[in-house]
Amino acid sequence: MSTFLLEIVTPDRVVYSEQVNGVTVRGVEGELGILPGHIPFVTPLQIAPVYVKIGNNRQPFAVQGGFIEVRKEKVVILAESAEKADEIDLERAEAAKERAQTRLNAKGRQDEIDHRRAELALQRAMNRIKISGNTKH
Ligand code: ATP
Repeated sequence: MSTFLLEIVTPDRVVYSEQVNGVTVRGVEGELGILPGHIPFVTPLQIAPVYVKIGNNRQPFAVQGGFIEVRKEKVVILAESAEKADEIDLERAEAAKERAQTRLNAKGRQDEIDHRRAELALQRAMNRIKISGNTKH
């Protein structure tokens, strides 16, 4: 089975760098499956799981937005933050989810920017919770 180099990087670190058979991401317009030899393109990503395929294994990552760049020689996912399933602190994500929900439910006039920020925090937390319970490789 042919492969390509996949890198998942954040401003802090290289989260992942391996030869893979495929990767599935959620772009702004929906799910995208990238296989070897895909034409080059760049597109923004949603806050959503990324699934890496190697043989019969499917390894999940929590990727918090950013973008995917498909080049001839490799595929790069560049995100503000990204974690492997076993790197996720579930309690921290549950606490972040609670905090975000409390903010979103707060009565009274809400600052629009704070509201948006809480929505994004909630999406990040839910993405992490989903991946953390999905450690099957
Ligand atoms: P929190 O409110 O818990 O900090 P957050 O969504 O605001 O969550 P980010 O700004 O997305 O956090 O990430 C900051 C750093 O902390 C990144 O390096 C990210 O990988 C890490 N991180 C955030 N939440 C978790 C988690 N639940 N488990 C492991 N690492 C996390």
